[in-house]
Amino acid sequence: MKNRIEEIVERIPQKMKAVVIRQHGGPEVLNIEEMTIPKPGEQEVLIKVEATALNHLDIFAREGLKGPGVPKLTLPHISGVDIVGYVVEYGPNILNSSNKIEKGKRVLVNPSFGCGDCRFCRNGEPSMCPDYKIVGEHLWGGLAEYVVVPAKNIIPIPDHISSERAAAIPAVYTTAWRGVVHVGKIKPSDKVLIIGASGGLGSAQLDIAVAAGATVIGIASSEEKRKRCLEMGAVAMFDSNGDWMSEIKEWSNQEGVDMVFDSVGKPTFTKSLNSLKMGGKLVLSGATAGDFPEISIREIYQWHRQILGAPMGNWDDFLQVTDYVWQEKLNPQVSAVFPLEKIAEAQSLLENRSHFGKIVIRVC
Ligand SMILES: [Zn+2]
Repeated sequence: MKNRIEEIVERIPQKMKAVVIRQHGGPEVLNIEEMTIPKPGEQEVLIKVEATALNHLDIFAREGLKGPGVPKLTLPHISGVDIVGYVVEYGPNILNSSNKIEKGKRVLVNPSFGCGDCRFCRNGEPSMCPDYKIVGEHLWGGLAEYVVVPAKNIIPIPDHISSERAAAIPAVYTTAWRGVVHVGKIKPSDKVLIIGASGGLGSAQLDIAVAAGATVIGIASSEEKRKRCLEMGAVAMFDSNGDWMSEIKEWSNQEGVDMVFDSVGKPTFTKSLNSLKMGGKLVLSGATAGDFPEISIREIYQWHRQILGAPMGNWDDFLQVTDYVWQEKLNPQVSAVFPLEKIAEAQSLLENRSHFGKIVIRVC
């Protein structure tokens, strides 16, 4: 008798279920539709999706967010950046056929890629490429039963890691690794503040900063979330609805902290900056609650402070952080798992920020 995986590889149907965005708006614009399964082109692979984690990118795609650095979507669109699934078909002319991952293998997709030829790509930095693309943002993504991705962007997942946990890695853990390790250059002696420490990205930054041996504090909006952060290794947590900047100054003997990670944006930017000590670094990886904060230039240069950008990480960040998760030195937090049919409910939960860590859609 054939096992489930063999059947998945041998029987690729004509149609798939997918969450299709045909117009921008609230969760009500998300429709589950029957779509033709895409064919992998040259250097591509078809994946039977098992689990896809949600990101704020899914909300931005649905709402049709506009602004600097936000790619223009063409509709209809299928979002879904963080994809785990099984290799079922290769397109023609796959390079490096000796490295080809066998059909039926469970894989994790690195969603980002560049042109491959420019100086940034050649330097291993696809997110700096002028032609940078993310699966689920520029291309149809994993909120569907099948997805086509570049064949070079998949890596195998070890058996002891669940698909939900693996799906929690690509967007937030790669970005967090980039910000904390590569850009922030964290040291064990650093005092580090994580803004929104209970969110997908924040909990990943917290996890990595604790693993790096730093003294980590954070802000979060509820007692329950703050408790979870303390369990993950934070030494102190503050209420994001309270006067946290003064409380952190007091906690640090009026010195401030070495580094702040802020992906919330406008509502927290000024306080984040002023929580830094002399010469401290503010690392920005998102602006999920608003762009364009008020900035005092003097509060930056008079204090020898640095403001650093750390968007999606590169290949090295992705491989280093996945390896660390495979070793179980990091623990991606999955707060809820929904079936594909409950996508609207799942996205509402993400928007309400009442969850801890990642929300994952179990596709099959
Ligand atoms: Zn390039």
